[in-house]
Amino acid sequence: MKAIALFSGGLDSTLAMKLIIDQGIEVIACNINTGFGSTKDRLTHMKNMCEQVGAEFRSVDIRDEYIKEVLFTPKYGYGKNFNPCIDCHAKMFEVAKRKMEEWGASFLISGEVLGQRPMSQNRESLDKVLNLSNCDGLLLRPMSAKSLEPTLPEINGWVDREKLENISGRNRERQMELAEQFGLKDYEAPGGGCLLTDENFSNKIRDFIAHDTFEVADIPTLKYGRQLRLPEGAKLIIGRNAEDNAVLEAIENPKYIHLSTELVGPHAMLSQNASNNDRVLAAKLVLAYCKAGFEGEQTLDFGGVALSTVSDLSRNDAQKYFI
Ligand code: SF4
Repeated sequence: MKAIALFSGGLDSTLAMKLIIDQGIEVIACNINTGFGSTKDRLTHMKNMCEQVGAEFRSVDIRDEYIKEVLFTPKYGYGKNFNPCIDCHAKMFEVAKRKMEEWGASFLISGEVLGQRPMSQNRESLDKVLNLSNCDGLLLRPMSAKSLEPTLPEINGWVDREKLENISGRNRERQMELAEQFGLKDYEAPGGGCLLTDENFSNKIRDFIAHDTFEVADIPTLKYGRQLRLPEGAKLIIGRNAEDNAVLEAIENPKYIHLSTELVGPHAMLSQNASNNDRVLAAKLVLAYCKAGFEGEQTLDFGGVALSTVSDLSRNDAQKYFI
């Protein structure tokens, strides 16, 4: 008997997997990559948690499908920011359900806890997720199973319902107790949670879609660097540190040209279709972030085209263009 677990790396989904593995069932931990979550740190963390409970880790990339079908048209709307949590959960279960045959699994599990998140994990939301994903009966939530309707794996006797949990609400006491009992270590997930719940990132998406069509290749351009919208509509991205610079430099996105100078300074990207005025402004703003100590006109490379200007703007001047 095999189950697929929706796995985020958090303690609840790890415990949910352990409860099922302890009943002699093989569990594949399925992490769904929406493009707005996992960082490198988190990936290492997720693999570590899976190892501790004996689950096999797999990741499924749904970025394109997520943008086309969930992010901008959620049936149940958004949370506080750009997070379409109910539709997002439903999409994840739909994807996991699609994988069942290929991976030889008989049911699905998740670490959802009834009432833990007032908006997305109340009884009504959990039911909406079931309806939207067409997973009714197949989706077992081991952490709150005893408070929920019996599912197929319980009815068919594949899983002993009595050995599942009855957790509800925001109190984490029982989870801590279980973590201790199972000897779990390092279960605090590192940063890099879902960016869609972040106010600043949500603003960047709003700004982007007001000017352009959002595609998978645009995700990294929103994640790194200072983000500026120039007066005639161009988008300017200026690296904040070595990490940003390295990532931005490697981005190949036809919507942007790369800006570089001979000076010591950040890597920058500008909308490929920027007007002349925005190009000159972009050059001045990039120069404002270069290491001081140069004088007179400077020449910048705009994706193979040279542009010369003086540096007469400061970093303070840049502030008004920040998204
Ligand atoms: S927090 Fe992000 S990943 Fe989690 S359900 Fe909401 S939108 Fe999806």
